[in-house]
Amino acid sequence: MANMRILLLEEHKSTQELLLHGLTKIGHSVEVVDNGHQGFLEATAKSYDVIISDISIPHWDGFKFIEAMEVVRPQLPIIVVTPASTDPSLVQRLHGYNSIVRVLSKPVDIDTIIETLAPLHSQKNSRLNKMARIVATIGPASSSEKIIGQMILAGMDVARLNFSHGSYTEHEKALTAIRKAEELWEKPVAVLVDLCGPKIRTGAMKDGSIELKAEEMITIQADNILGTEERFSTIVPEIIGDLKKGDPILLDDGLLELRVVRPGEEEVLCEIVTSGRLYSHKGMNLPETRLSLPSVTEKDWQDLEWALAHQVDYVALSFVRSAREILDIKHYISVSDKPELRVVAKIEKPEAIRNLNDIIEASDAVMIARGDMGVELPAARVPRMQQKIIDLCWRRNTPVITATQMLDSMTTRSRPTRAEVTDVSVAIQEGTDAVMLSQETATGYDPVNVVRTMASIICEEESHAKLSMSHFQQLARETGVNPVLTAAAALNTTRATILFDFQGTLYPTLSKWNRKVTSILITGSVQIARHASLYKNIVPLLIDPQLKRSELLGRALECARLGGYVQSGDIVAVIEGEYTNERNIKQIGTLQLIKA
Ligand code: PEP
Repeated sequence: MANMRILLLEEHKSTQELLLHGLTKIGHSVEVVDNGHQGFLEATAKSYDVIISDISIPHWDGFKFIEAMEVVRPQLPIIVVTPASTDPSLVQRLHGYNSIVRVLSKPVDIDTIIETLAPLHSQKNSRLNKMARIVATIGPASSSEKIIGQMILAGMDVARLNFSHGSYTEHEKALTAIRKAEELWEKPVAVLVDLCGPKIRTGAMKDGSIELKAEEMITIQADNILGTEERFSTIVPEIIGDLKKGDPILLDDGLLELRVVRPGEEEVLCEIVTSGRLYSHKGMNLPETRLSLPSVTEKDWQDLEWALAHQVDYVALSFVRSAREILDIKHYISVSDKPELRVVAKIEKPEAIRNLNDIIEASDAVMIARGDMGVELPAARVPRMQQKIIDLCWRRNTPVITATQMLDSMTTRSRPTRAEVTDVSVAIQEGTDAVMLSQETATGYDPVNVVRTMASIICEEESHAKLSMSHFQQLARETGVNPVLTAAAALNTTRATILFDFQGTLYPTLSKWNRKVTSILITGSVQIARHASLYKNIVPLLIDPQLKRSELLGRALECARLGGYVQSGDIVAVIEGEYTNERNIKQIGTLQLIKA
């Protein structure tokens, strides 16, 4: 039997010592933790060959721990030790888990444990404790509380509800499931409502589709008809009058192309440039047409009202053209009952690229919507635009989401293509805060596996990430603005950084610079905790802000220890923002180093 890496979850000192001594004596390496949540974090951060776990442990009991492990490490064997008094029906239940190789009752016999370890094989697990965030779209394949809970465990930080599809009743059900799963697994999750904007589509086609042949002519008309090889209609008739001679019309994500030869108010005659089959209700992109349509449609305003009336944290606006639209929406939100709702600008139109700086400045977050962008612009320009947008967002410290087709093949398969793995890695290398899954999790056949795969790609890339020279230069400039946060980011010997940020104004800067160790955001607001879920490397912990100042640090350390983020003896950086002390002296910030 080769030497094994063993994670031991045991609260009682006597059993801890017995197993530690007996197993290290014969060459195994053993790490001990004393609660289930800490065990979960260790097992996602490191590679073990086997876990030995008591069933009766604090903060996530054995069952909760095993359920979580079956999601993140389905192949990792677990030996369970139970107190002698354990109810036989619970022991029976344990045998139902695939990963449990043996259930033993206490007092443990070290020889039996050694005999159980003998046939087990060495594991090659990749880390899953990533810093970058995963936005996952919830749809028919993933709207149950169980699947959402498993996606949270696997690494989902933000759940996206796509208002291009689904009814209010369906979104309401999904939202309830997200909030329940969030509570069960004790991890704040932001909910992002994606407003579809002026998405232009064709009308319905006779028998579901029509054949387009290059060089032939076809008419698009304002009045609704069932499409034929001669003419079809659009669900947005207002665009007909905007089309000019020579304008390209891209259909079905750019698979088919028409060009306007005779414009008109009621109908336009087009030449077919690319042949193919056109199905009902396919998207129409008009990259060179100046549209008179508003960027925020009637449906968007109604959907925004829905978001304002529900527990939603971010709202994304599609087909943004200028900062004006973002500012209008933000003004509307600011005078509503829910001024804290944040706005994400989806960058996909050529006009948005021209107004990029102003749009980023006006937005709370940005999404690189590569799907429509690759139709509105030549697809070959998308990688350069992605890099440019990530870089601009980094400079302004605006969180940025890289979206669409990242692991597209996993909608129907269990492994990604090598090109998809490279795509996720490159986005992380370029400094994106979050990567997004669309149909992979909304309609794909194994949404949990997709999230887990994405988390492992992120972790691998992050283990090699370094700040570039231009980032170092910017850090030097920002050190003057926020010396406390940037100083903490430079420390090399701390296990974690604890940030007291009850107003939620400091964590974005910590997220930007503190990329070496976990940043724990202490807040009393579930809203701030959820917003922070979109920010890289921020782990929010909720603590009652009414606690006396002298008790706060102790409570924060206790929560961080119970959560598994720090262990006794670790050096921890503790940061506080502005504060006026009892002698009326105003501190701009403090950085303390303490031993947990
Ligand atoms: C996109 O176009 O890349 C995108 C994210 O938007 P949607 O999924 O709404 O088309």
